[in-house]
Amino acid sequence: MIDPFGRRISYLRVSVTDRCDLRCVYCMAEDMSFLPKAEILSLEELDRLCGAFIGLGVEKIRLTGGEPLVRKNVISLVRSLGARLGSGLQELTVTTNGTQLAKMAGDLHAAGIRRLNVSMDTLDPARFTAITRWGKLEQTLDGIFAAKAAGLAIKINAVALKGVNEHEYDQMLAWCGEHGFDLCLIETMPLGEISGDRTDQYLPLSLVRARLRERWTLEETDYSTGGPARYYRVRETGGRIGFITPLTHNFCESCNRVRLTCTGTLYMCLGQEDAADLRRPLRDPSLDEAGLQQAILEAISRKPKGHDFVIDRRHNRPALARHMSVTGG
Ligand code: SAM
Ligand code: SF4
Repeated sequence: MIDPFGRRISYLRVSVTDRCDLRCVYCMAEDMSFLPKAEILSLEELDRLCGAFIGLGVEKIRLTGGEPLVRKNVISLVRSLGARLGSGLQELTVTTNGTQLAKMAGDLHAAGIRRLNVSMDTLDPARFTAITRWGKLEQTLDGIFAAKAAGLAIKINAVALKGVNEHEYDQMLAWCGEHGFDLCLIETMPLGEISGDRTDQYLPLSLVRARLRERWTLEETDYSTGGPARYYRVRETGGRIGFITPLTHNFCESCNRVRLTCTGTLYMCLGQEDAADLRRPLRDPSLDEAGLQQAILEAISRKPKGHDFVIDRRHNRPALARHMSVTGG
């Protein structure tokens, strides 16, 4: 699949549920309303849709959410997608908040998953609960170490929040180095109404990187996970640190991904409203796999050149009404 700007689309992110067991302040309001269950694709439908994408050249699939591991029986989807590894699909991964990992890590590994992104913005228990509203740090840490023990490679994702976790990155970098995890810092993106002011939370990672360099030797690398993060090798720990900077650096030129929601809506760009409904062709009994693939190709032909996120101090409105939990980041 080649989009109108010559970019090869090989990466599909699938939000398997919009629900979550946490309420991170930058992601959701506390009283979120979720999609009615009837609108949500079954796990079999999601598998079939992923199969159509793989047939069109998708090599990497990431399951995300909401919290993907709270969807009932999600492991059956992981297994059916895992069975597609090797024939077109090269990698299957998950982004999770870690709360369910203590019980699921072994099954994820057995199904073919080798790498996980776990979101954890702080190592301080009280701050963790303040950020996630409903979370307990210990539960996420137990999950992370269960995943490590199961043989999964782990990258810790942390959203950089001004005045909240900004003095912790040295400690988090050292902790990740000690346990063999990569660390990836993410700038806050203006998605969805949340209670609070996002301009207060926004912390440019160019500043964070400069501060980290006072203590750590960050060596340029061309390491890439096929995503927008820019990685450095940390000489002192041997680990890696990545920075995702949608607001300070426009990374759209090399975008290789599209995002599918649990209702079968395909977003061609995280930062634009345009979307394609794939549930209708998926459920249309007159359409076979080729018909479904035609609908996918039509959507790819509308992939925009880039996003136009901006955090505007005068108009404290999200750039997009959609929450990150719809498309999964
Ligand atoms: N629940 C899973 C988790 O937290 O990893 C997967 C879904 S979550 C929406 C995916 C990632 O998006 C997380 O790393 C989260 O921190 C990040 N995220 C959520 N809202 C964000 C925002 N407004 N700006 C930047 N990152 C955000
Ligand atoms: Fe849930 Fe992930 Fe959003 Fe936090 S960032 S509320 S864990 S979906």
